[in-house]
Amino acid sequence: MPSHRLALCKNHYIEWFERRVESTIKEFKMFSKNDRVLVAVSGGKDSLALWHALVKLGYQADGLYIDLGIGEYSKKSKEIVKSFAQRIEKNLHIVELEREIATIPTIKEVDSRPACSFCGTIKRYYMNKMARDLKYDVIATGHNLDDETAVLFSNVLSWNIDYLKRQYPVLREEKGFVKKVKPLCKMTEKENALYAFFNRIEYIEDECPFAEGSTSISYKKLLASLEEQSPGSKIRFYLEFLRKVHPILDKDYQKSLSVCKVCGEPSSSEICPICRLKAKVGV
Ligand code: AMP
Ligand code: ZN
Repeated sequence: MPSHRLALCKNHYIEWFERRVESTIKEFKMFSKNDRVLVAVSGGKDSLALWHALVKLGYQADGLYIDLGIGEYSKKSKEIVKSFAQRIEKNLHIVELEREIATIPTIKEVDSRPACSFCGTIKRYYMNKMARDLKYDVIATGHNLDDETAVLFSNVLSWNIDYLKRQYPVLREEKGFVKKVKPLCKMTEKENALYAFFNRIEYIEDECPFAEGSTSISYKKLLASLEEQSPGSKIRFYLEFLRKVHPILDKDYQKSLSVCKVCGEPSSSEICPICRLKAKVGV
């Protein structure tokens, strides 16, 4: 691992990975062993590696899978998540989007935006609603260092201050919003894949069919070539942002929030995006 100047065998790698996850949780005060954690699992390597590591470290962690109804991709990932939950003997909650609104391909027919934009809004809405209804203290997602640096890079390119303010591994609990954390924010995609491989975790390798050609993929490629030329630059870019820039932005952080007139969920507009989507679909 050139960026850490380390070379480890399998057992020491697993130990190193879990220690690093635990120290990230403590450094950012994400949660403790007394908290009930809801891990949002997609069936990919990151979120399954996270769930595995949290359970092994002794945290109380259950899973949440949102079935987006994206054909074979969703069917396969749902089966993978279900069998993993059985293997680790933990509860898995499932939201069927088809029952709540409609599947992503159906919504795509009535909504001209890129699927990733409304899909992200939908996932965040149900993660929050489920965690609150089921009385979890915190939601954990599998966002990794590659995700975080790609988003950071894109937000810096356009100096999108509002998004930069919200880019932190912890989003605190706020009126109607459950606390959200990213314990794998310091681990690369490759490091998560290796942890999954060493623990014989089966995961879905296919990308979501709608994600093809997304700009974040091109930023990831760009940052990967930078990392190859100068190992450690990715983690430095991210951690120095958190250390030097975020505290300045966070000072005047204020969110204007009320609740959606239709469903009562927290929303910055009179009617939340999900209820507007439901009206469009006609449910
Ligand atoms: P993505 O938005 O696909 O980059 O995924 C980021 C994180 O969101 C993943 O690591 C998971 O924690 C969570 N996530 C993505 N898709 C799902 C899903 N279908 N159900 C539950 N959680 C998900
Ligand atoms: Zn609503």
